Amino acid sequence: MSFLRGIIDSFSSILNEETKNDTNVSSSSSSSSGSMNGIDGVPVSNERVAYKLKGYFDLGKEEIAKGVRAEEWGLHDDALLHYRNAQRIMNEASSTPSPSYISSSEKEKVRSYREKISKWQNQVSERLQALGKRTGVGVSENNKRTVASPSSASVSSTASRYRRTPSQKTPVPRGGIAMARNTKDAAAASPKPVKESGSVHDDKLVEMINTTIVDRSPSVQWDDVAGLDGAKQALLEMVILPAKRRDLFTGLRRPARGLLLFGPPGNGKTMLAKAVASESQATFFNVSASSLTSKWVGEAEKLVKTLFQVAISRQPSVIFMDEIDSIMSTRSISENEASRRLKSEFLIQFDGVTSNPDDLVIVIGATNKPQELDDAVLRRLVKRIYVPLPDSKVRTLLFKTKLKSQPHSLSGSDIDKIVRETEGYSGSDLQALCEEAAMMPIRELGADILTIQANKVRPLRYDDFRKSMAVIRPSLSKSKWEELERWNSEFGSN
Ligand code: ATP
Ligand code: MG
Repeated sequence: MSFLRGIIDSFSSILNEETKNDTNVSSSSSSSSGSMNGIDGVPVSNERVAYKLKGYFDLGKEEIAKGVRAEEWGLHDDALLHYRNAQRIMNEASSTPSPSYISSSEKEKVRSYREKISKWQNQVSERLQALGKRTGVGVSENNKRTVASPSSASVSSTASRYRRTPSQKTPVPRGGIAMARNTKDAAAASPKPVKESGSVHDDKLVEMINTTIVDRSPSVQWDDVAGLDGAKQALLEMVILPAKRRDLFTGLRRPARGLLLFGPPGNGKTMLAKAVASESQATFFNVSASSLTSKWVGEAEKLVKTLFQVAISRQPSVIFMDEIDSIMSTRSISENEASRRLKSEFLIQFDGVTSNPDDLVIVIGATNKPQELDDAVLRRLVKRIYVPLPDSKVRTLLFKTKLKSQPHSLSGSDIDKIVRETEGYSGSDLQALCEEAAMMPIRELGADILTIQANKVRPLRYDDFRKSMAVIRPSLSKSKWEELERWNSEFGSN
């Protein structure tokens, strides 16, 4: 952000400097245009070069200003287009020939313009290069577009992407909510306008939320999640069914608005939330709490506010906050001001959506450290669902699912034996164990690996798993597990 500020500031200083100079040029020019013969009796035609350069400057200045604004909003393609226009205009300016005879004062003006043109050219090509790297577009594309002045087609097409209201001095990017709605949402309630939109900043955030936080293609299906029947039932009653049948879930059946998925790492909390996204007809906002604090530095509080407003406008909505402990942990004296404000904003917004019986915005938090959560946050996440380590039934299911696509010679009793021996393994530990076991037959091949036919690789056997268990150990210590179990019996809903 501060980097961008620097660029904007440096452009602004050039633009200001130029405005100052323009005034000088126009006043001296107007005095020259008053004379038929021009200054010092030099014919006017020779003086035109200063006017011409000024014209180029005005056009270039306009394009740079648009480019800077587009960059501020994160519209990199638009910024590229404007900087390219500016570059082209400046190229033309610098190739304008100086007349053979020119008065000394005009000569000075022309020299000063040329100097500034070259300064602008350098700055613009630096921005083009930086943006080109970020967007993957080569700077050389530059000369393919036919844009030389703001009246040309491509500038006006860019301009048409902005709307102006009489009270707005700066254009505002179109889009926001309507732009990112998907067909699924069309069936849902019509959107309410986002409160407080209209300022450039809010519209930019709305657009970012719609493009980067709304999850449209969750890859996990309900059946991919092995076991966890209690958690699935709670999510069905609280999110999936109320979103599909809002008419049935009113009054006493009104679903709880806050839910916490907690439990040891690697047992399907994130998977469950993603499955909810693909099963429900709700708009799914996937917010990673850690990215909220890293990516949105300084803007996190505003983002949370806007996020809830967008969620209300696109309800039924689910706001999923993964790793919620990283921003909603117990307040401490050492806590910085920004994170305190972020937390307060979250609580205010959360209370806002729960107080209105007509709003269906559900917040799901996930954490493996529930004991670190702030009490105020915990109080609002009324339903707390424990996602435990897989029991023997779930481990059996997991092994059978994972072995489906792998040739093996394991009997039912072999699988039972592995299941007994993997007590204390998490879902992700089991995944790692299967991957390690699957490598065993490959490692035996030695140099044959390059020539052997895929179907000739020997099937997996019990011994592969036994050996792999020596390498892949359960990742959760007993004390951690016991701590979570205790927390569940004290605060959990199941
Ligand atoms: P963390 O607390 O570290 O965020 P998590 O509980 O969110 O962990 P997930 O990311 O959902 O864990 O799961 C990690 C991986 O473990 C999954 O990608 C999947 O391969 C496997 N896994 C865990 N639980 C299950 C399950 N119930 N069914 C199928 N696969 C599972
Ligand atoms: Mg997770």
